[in-house]
Amino acid sequence: PGLVIAIDGTSGSGKSSTSRGVAERLGLRYLDTGAMFRAMTWWLLCEGVDVRDVAAVAALVGRPAIESGTDPLAPTITVDGVDVSVAIRGEDVTAAVSPVSAVPEVRARLLDLQRDVIGAGDIVVEGRDIGSVVWPQADVKVYLSADPDARAQRRTAEQGGTDVASTQQSLLERDRIDSGRATAPLTMAEGAVHVDSTHQSLAEVIDRIVALAGA
Ligand code: C5P
Repeated sequence: PGLVIAIDGTSGSGKSSTSRGVAERLGLRYLDTGAMFRAMTWWLLCEGVDVRDVAAVAALVGRPAIESGTDPLAPTITVDGVDVSVAIRGEDVTAAVSPVSAVPEVRARLLDLQRDVIGAGDIVVEGRDIGSVVWPQADVKVYLSADPDARAQRRTAEQGGTDVASTQQSLLERDRIDSGRATAPLTMAEGAVHVDSTHQSLAEVIDRIVALAGA
């Protein structure tokens, strides 16, 4: 099997830009597992499901067909054939995704899909539990972090907004739920290299990971 690079970390630590950059540099595929949790959440909201109702969520996880495109230059995600790449970045989805992701049945369903995609390797996979649960045998495991101020500032700029304080509150609330859940919480996986991007440019972080991959 080909190379697998797992990049886990907190919300807003730069995982997506970093992972896509590493994949481009090394000619690898790219999988954004967060987008899959967002797609599931988007579908549940469209169906009018109360996402705090764990039993209701658990009963429906098998329904939507979720497919991820793995081109790092143009990643796509579809639900029942509909491209939801833009819709899953909405505030409603962002606010609901962490509680949905804490439901074990959601994780089990998406775990199967993730492992199918990773299968043959030659891929950079980003998420929260890739190095710990999804693909512990990854060739390179990175735990990416950054100070909350830096994360909130970057994310606010990305979204073209101005309210850094409320962005920070939303990032920290997701971290709290993602780190505190019983199933596959966000942690630093065994064997992971901790990379702190607070005082590093995107290019520096990408270089570091490319070097870890021995390329
Ligand atoms: O990476 P992103 O911020 O888009 O992920 C959205 C949410 O999906 C996270 O806050 C987390 O609740 C969930 N997630 C997860 N496990 C992953 C990837 C994402 O629980 N591997």
